[in-house]
Amino acid sequence: MLRLHEMFASLQGEGPHTGRPAFFIRLAGCVPPLCPWCDTKGAWDEGTEVSVSDLAAAAKESGLGFVVITGGEPLRQWEEGLWELDRVLSKLGFAVQYETSGKVPVPEDIRGEVILSPKYLEGSWHVDRTSVARARHLKFVASQGTLGLIDAFVADHALDKDRVWLMPLGMTRDEQVENMPLVWDHCVKMGYRMASRLHILAFDT
Ligand code: SF4
Repeated sequence: MLRLHEMFASLQGEGPHTGRPAFFIRLAGCVPPLCPWCDTKGAWDEGTEVSVSDLAAAAKESGLGFVVITGGEPLRQWEEGLWELDRVLSKLGFAVQYETSGKVPVPEDIRGEVILSPKYLEGSWHVDRTSVARARHLKFVASQGTLGLIDAFVADHALDKDRVWLMPLGMTRDEQVENMPLVWDHCVKMGYRMASRLHILAFDT
């Protein structure tokens, strides 16, 4: 059984798959330290127990071929049954993407694609080094104040710049648009990729 916060069909709003229709499975619970700016605080609770087969059936019913497993921190439930959902979805032919903070290790045998969003909290990055190595892409919410920290992270982990995505900070459309030129210029200078946070541009929430 897995603990679920919510599931729904939508478009992926961030990162390398921006704009792709997706069935979202948002698992419940996160791991400390919790981010004060978190926009999914509702997922911090323990959620509702759902079986792997019910989750797979819901994904099938959506009619979509792409499943995003997010949280909270979804990988904290790997041993509790997420490993099984990973295999079931892969057997059914779904493309699967995991959204993780990297605060817990990414399992070596995970089949879905891992997108890691490292969190800088209390003066340091809270990320497991093996998770960084196993992630396909890393995405950062960027602003004037964080560009230097991101560059230092990229250098410390000797990351291929093609794996690095920057998205302008902004909890509102105006805030995001204001940060866009800065992030654009930095991506050009450093060779990073850029994406918007499309759901905020679309709905301003
Ligand atoms: Fe929220 Fe993600 Fe931070 Fe957890 S890791 S507190 S879900 S932003």
